[in-house]
Amino acid sequence: EIQIYDLHKSFGQIEVLKGISTIVRRGEVVCVIGPSGSGKSTLLRCVNLLEQPTQGRIFILNDEITDLDADVDEIRTKMGMVFQQFNLFPHLTAMQNCTIAPIRVLKKDKAEAEGNAQANLDKVGLGDRGDAYPAQLSGGQQQRVAIARALSMDPELMLFDEPTSALDPELVGDVLSVMRDLAKSGMTMMVVTHEMAFAREVADRVIFMDGGVIVEEGPPDEVIGNPQHERTRTFLRRVL
Ligand code: ATP
Ligand code: MG
Repeated sequence: EIQIYDLHKSFGQIEVLKGISTIVRRGEVVCVIGPSGSGKSTLLRCVNLLEQPTQGRIFILNDEITDLDADVDEIRTKMGMVFQQFNLFPHLTAMQNCTIAPIRVLKKDKAEAEGNAQANLDKVGLGDRGDAYPAQLSGGQQQRVAIARALSMDPELMLFDEPTSALDPELVGDVLSVMRDLAKSGMTMMVVTHEMAFAREVADRVIFMDGGVIVEEGPPDEVIGNPQHERTRTFLRRVL
């Protein structure tokens, strides 16, 4: 569960998040949509404190990550994050990308980490590519390894920031289908995406952001299917 209360974030004089409050419940899939520059990535980055909020409080499960005394690294181990750029370690194989953090951070022994990594590579459809280096994989395969790597930390929740927008169109489907399976398995997910069909099908709730505020949120059939705000309608007309 992610609880966000009155989150503000400024870069210098510019206030990018202007009071965001929302709760992502356990097992819920929330898709965040909105125009470029509306603050979607900043919101996600504040959730795991890659950006320090200017104001507001964020709770991850029962821990307040914005508490000055919080053990941020410990709380972060509960969140998997997948970015637009895959950020795999280029000198490590797919398997090693999935085992390095469990071994170093969670202190798992190698055999257990490899067993878990193999299961996660299977889950993303790359069970037979564990020995491949990132450069030997397509963008879509690299992104699926990135998802398997995040899952290998046994996270309680997953954050995705436009995981398919750097991919060639024909590779997008495989990544979305892995995310769809993950959603069905009950994972708590917060997904920034431009994929309206995915949001409509998979999200329990859609948040439309514009100008650093939540303009509208609700079930996808309402926010995407029957938006109440002109700003939402204008955005959807452009992307649909
Ligand atoms: P996109 O759809 O293009 O990814 P976004 O909704 O994710 O957009 P953000 O990346 O959160 O938008 O950026 C929101 C605003 O904050 C933008 O105006 C951006 O220029 C600004 N911004 C983001 N990060 C920084 C930073 N580190 N320093 C200064 N300004 C920043
Ligand atoms: Mg962004």
